[in-house]
Amino acid sequence: MSHLDCLSEVNSECANGAGQPSVYLTFDDGPHPFCTPKVLDVLAQHRVSATFFVIGAHAADQPALIQRMITEGHEVANHTMTHPDLSECEPGAVQREIFDANRAIKAACPRASVRYMRAPYGIWTEQVIASAASIGLSAVHWSADPRDWFRPGVDAIVDAVLASVRPGAIVLLHDGCPPSEMKPGTDAGLRSQTIMALSRIIPALHDRGFAVRSLPQQH
Ligand SMILES: [Zn+2]
Repeated sequence: MSHLDCLSEVNSECANGAGQPSVYLTFDDGPHPFCTPKVLDVLAQHRVSATFFVIGAHAADQPALIQRMITEGHEVANHTMTHPDLSECEPGAVQREIFDANRAIKAACPRASVRYMRAPYGIWTEQVIASAASIGLSAVHWSADPRDWFRPGVDAIVDAVLASVRPGAIVLLHDGCPPSEMKPGTDAGLRSQTIMALSRIIPALHDRGFAVRSLPQQH
């Protein structure tokens, strides 16, 4: 499947930490008031950094979590303002979705430097990529998708990641959900499988000799 000019894997020549193969964990659809802190706790416990593709509307609601991500050394990236299928949006709306999310991230944490953008559902168009590029954002897809959002069970998530990672892999996980799917008060356990899987995936990757990193500054 072609993803236009999106980055789906990190070229090892350009990766950080020359010599050690790396895997890049990415989390979409947060920040979520209950799930994101637990993801951050697991990452901190294992001293690894990751990239969070946040939804602008959630960033506006949870600025402290954006600040915590930056303070703890993670990369914060753009996953649009409201998570629409951008292929169904008018050109002006596509641009607004991407620009507004950048503004929301900056408003939540002025120190944040946003470098990457991921289209909702991984649905890319030339116009999405051009709009992102116009404000300096590189399009980032993924190479490993354990479909954790579907909640297939902790073992299934762990096994799917470990079966598909290789040096430079970009792993798609979720620390939240789109605004249209938010159910206040009943979704504290929304990403419990992802969080339990994460606490097994990181040590397993380390055992295999991988460094676990946020996306590199250059690629
Ligand atoms: Zn998403």
